[in-house]
Amino acid sequence: MPHKIHIAHPQLGRAEIEGVRRVLKSGHLRAGALTERFESEFARFVGARFGIAVNSGTSALFLAAKALLRPGDEVIVPDFTFVATASMVLAAGARPVFADVNEKTFTLEPADVERRITSRTRAILPVHLYGHPADILALERLAKRHRLHLIGDAAQAHGAKYQGQDVGSFRDIVCYSFYPTKNLTTAEGGMLVTSNTRLAEKLRLMRSHGERRRYEHVCLGYNLRFTDIAAAIGLAQLRRLSAGNRKRRQNAAALARELAGIAGIEIPQETEGNFHVYNSFTIRLNPKVIGMSRDEFRARLARHGIETAVHYPLPLHRQPLFRGYGRDEDFPVSTRLAKTVLSLPVHPALTTHDLNRMIRVVRNTAAEALR
Ligand SMILES: *Cc1c(COP(=O)(O)O)cnc(C)c1O
Repeated sequence: MPHKIHIAHPQLGRAEIEGVRRVLKSGHLRAGALTERFESEFARFVGARFGIAVNSGTSALFLAAKALLRPGDEVIVPDFTFVATASMVLAAGARPVFADVNEKTFTLEPADVERRITSRTRAILPVHLYGHPADILALERLAKRHRLHLIGDAAQAHGAKYQGQDVGSFRDIVCYSFYPTKNLTTAEGGMLVTSNTRLAEKLRLMRSHGERRRYEHVCLGYNLRFTDIAAAIGLAQLRRLSAGNRKRRQNAAALARELAGIAGIEIPQETEGNFHVYNSFTIRLNPKVIGMSRDEFRARLARHGIETAVHYPLPLHRQPLFRGYGRDEDFPVSTRLAKTVLSLPVHPALTTHDLNRMIRVVRNTAAEALR
């Protein structure tokens, strides 16, 4: 049996190990100078003025929602995303309102967002799913017209660009995750970026007990703090990010070229003018054409040592947590995607040999199915 090809593989090396060793030897573990350096370097990389590092992407979304929303506010989120995008709106006391996604980009469909705006709508929360930017310009227009906040979920989109501009450079707050499967990891961790001075100040206070000076608490806050250990890893990872994204794009191009034209398989696309960073390479299977279910297809790849993932098997309106938030008919695209998507390995550690093996196995599996 050849080695297993994993769905994700963090790129860690000497720089990360040395960085962590230095922090441990210094005895300075909590967030300090290194965290501040990581915040400013990461923010600069994504084109924002300020970075506020927190202990997870989920915490970043929670803090953004807490800072911008009031109880009873409605926030329009995609029906097709990881649960935290919507559950943190709920955690902040506001109400997520689901909208359908675009069939090509898997991201929020602006026309459907517009239909769901009410007098209580306060924000739109696009997700740059799989590393492909959402249609930010159309959403910004809606936000402007209806005086809404924009909160970006870029947990899968470090370095992704919308019409030449990094997704992190847009208003009001953009949230990142540094979980091990993301394009940049610090084990656990996350960051909010913004170019709004007052908002940055508020987020910093809320991150740590609303503390302005030692034991003086000016607002309700939490402990969502980062550490200098994580910052050491993050700074080393930031040096690898551009090359890693380029490698992901090369891998995606090879997969797209070699898998195109297989009946029943649809290849992910990068829409005109955008820069996809392929946190996932997510194909769509047409079970009628291919002659087997997505889950059967997946099991066959697993038998050949190829790990795949389903992001995500349930649209949010089908989650038990969100019972009563909508029916399948309200979200036809999202409902269809949840049944048909399959993510293949695309991470930068894949070798040419791995890619060729994956391509061969996917082709053979599709051919077997048709027989
Ligand atoms: C990973 C992810 C999150 C959550 O980040 P954590 O660091 O795991 O808390 C939120 N939204 C999306 C789209 C994600 O992919």
